[in-house]
Amino acid sequence: MPRTDLLQRLAASHAERARQALLRRLRTVEAVDGPRVVIDGKTLVNFASNDYLGLAQHPALAQALARAASRWGVGAGAAHLLGGHREEHAALEHALADWTGRERALVFSTGYMANLGVLGALLRDGDLCVQDKLNHASLIDGARYAGADLRRYAHLDGAHAARLLAADERPALLATDGVFSMDGDVAPLRALATACREHHATLLVDDAHGLGVLGPRGAGSLAEAGVEDRDAPVLMATLGKALGVAGAFVAGSAALIDGLVQFARTFVFTTAIPPALAAAAAAAVAVAREEEWRREKLASLIARLRSGAAELGIALLPSCTPIQGVLAGSARDALRLSVQMENAGFYTPAIRPPTVPKGKARLRIALSAAHEPDDVDRLLAALAKALRSATAAA
Ligand SMILES: *Cc1c(COP(=O)(O)O)cnc(C)c1O
Repeated sequence: MPRTDLLQRLAASHAERARQALLRRLRTVEAVDGPRVVIDGKTLVNFASNDYLGLAQHPALAQALARAASRWGVGAGAAHLLGGHREEHAALEHALADWTGRERALVFSTGYMANLGVLGALLRDGDLCVQDKLNHASLIDGARYAGADLRRYAHLDGAHAARLLAADERPALLATDGVFSMDGDVAPLRALATACREHHATLLVDDAHGLGVLGPRGAGSLAEAGVEDRDAPVLMATLGKALGVAGAFVAGSAALIDGLVQFARTFVFTTAIPPALAAAAAAAVAVAREEEWRREKLASLIARLRSGAAELGIALLPSCTPIQGVLAGSARDALRLSVQMENAGFYTPAIRPPTVPKGKARLRIALSAAHEPDDVDRLLAALAKALRSATAAA
């Protein structure tokens, strides 16, 4: 038997994806002006960005970045432990720990790397890792990478999670998204914290979509739920969503962070993020903490979208966060809807398997404080029209 050619096999998988209407396509954005983007020469209102507070183009962030770049240049030049760690990284970690009310924080290059790093450091071969079925791919991959025994509970089902923890006495981590990235619903954090306390498991919350958006001063979904730090000792969040920059961090006790500095391989064996990015992220933390009006505006846009959708008979997935889903069903239906929305001037890409379960393809609408009420009203009108024509075609 001749050996299978890897590139041919990859090409066959690509062709199969195309047949199933699941192919992803890279689009190049030609210009950005707040919530408006230009793609293929056409101006679209962008409802796909995770820049929930509208900070990505904030002048204070760009100025902090430029100032630090003029001091250091661009690259950190090395890993944190080998001379890559600068004042800007240390100041950012301090600001993040202070904001989230934790003893310490440690910056990672991306959220994906933070999750691999923290799960890899905490879990060993054969340990139990209990996770929500709809957790982000990086948490799932982190458990696999750590060699843990991954068990998944039904979405948001705290009782199911508790049963999985009760089944045996291996060391156990329970990991959950705080806000689910494709559905926008919020994890039952109090129930999960109780289950962890009762079964001596460690709770990790990935608050990529909660930080900056939920809780007093945007401190996140744990602060919103009123869960004590000792019941949720490992907090991970990203700097590339509501904070409008890039990167991620883990926050917790000094002992946790000391351990990660030694054993999180995605921290140890990688180049530090550019100090200028750390400076921009620290500026973003200051704005996100202080400018309550951004969260208030976001909340009023969410309420406007949901009440307007109800009036027009548009079914949205249950969510009180800026992530709002319109189920389309098949991948083909979701794509068709997304093309119609684009023709009407809105960027609302179709989210298809394997990002979401089969049969649950959808449009994911992400709101931002950069949107105006009129953007939401016009989105709803276009959506109602597109859905009507889909029903008529069926
Ligand atoms: C985006 C996201 C990540 C990954 O963060 P990046 O910084 O983009 O790598 C991790 N977890 C969740 C829940 C996310 O939504």
